Amino acid sequence: MWGSRKGGDKQSVVCIACGTAVRRDAAREYDKEGNRWDRKDKTFEHLCKDCHRGLCHQPRAELEDILVDIDAGSIDQQEFFARYETTVNERYGPLEEER
Ligand SMILES: [Zn+2]
Repeated sequence: MWGSRKGGDKQSVVCIACGTAVRRDAAREYDKEGNRWDRKDKTFEHLCKDCHRGLCHQPRAELEDILVDIDAGSIDQQEFFARYETTVNERYGPLEEER
């Protein structure tokens, strides 16, 4: 790794759950078991640590159901965030927020 490089935008990814840009090396990849809804633009394949921790309380299969339900592969990112958050809140209640 390039130890001297810090804060480079090209290492940023966007958390699929909260939309926060996080460093790639601080993010958690999600697509390992999520290929069911694999489409051409996989922009929703990372979670920040906080969301990853929150989502781990939920069965992964259900999370994928949500992603399918909201047509994760065929909507744009902003719409995806909105639908995802709404759906998760409806099913599980709000994720804990850490500031
Ligand atoms: Zn997040």
